Amino acid sequence: MQPVLAVERPLMKTLVAEYLATTADLDRKERLNQDRRKQFFLPHFQHLTGITRAWIVSQCVMEVSRQVYDQLEAATPDADKISCDDGWLPLVDRFLIVGHKQPGFVLKSAGEKWGGLELRYRCDPVGLEACRAAEKEAFVASIETCEKCGAPGRLRGKTQWRKTLCDVHADNRYDD
Ligand SMILES: [Zn+2]
Repeated sequence: MQPVLAVERPLMKTLVAEYLATTADLDRKERLNQDRRKQFFLPHFQHLTGITRAWIVSQCVMEVSRQVYDQLEAATPDADKISCDDGWLPLVDRFLIVGHKQPGFVLKSAGEKWGGLELRYRCDPVGLEACRAAEKEAFVASIETCEKCGAPGRLRGKTQWRKTLCDVHADNRYDD
């Protein structure tokens, strides 16, 4: 880690929290206004110079948008972020039970990619290991589970048409 970042981190954290608190009533566009953010942070880092100052301020600016989007995702019901078919919902649910026990966990999306279940989420470092294990388990189960109905299935197709389906739902359409 850059030494300056280690030194400035406590102040950055405090200021980001302060910015978020003082702009809580603004709409998102205003809150994320680039100039507004920059002008808020710049005066607090007069003790730094040139590129270092600009870099630290840009880290604060990015952290604000990261947290604003985290809050937005946390406020969106998980169901609205799930785009795979019903057969995989039990796999997503099992993952979410583990995920929501971890600090800072936010589901970003759950959907099908290349025939398998792709889970996107954010979590504090302390819970990452548990999330990754649950994510892997869900993925492994997904490529053996029909995405449509949840019956045992297998990966069909070789190229752009990859889907994990049971014999009934594959209906020869995807067979290789
Ligand atoms: Zn099926």
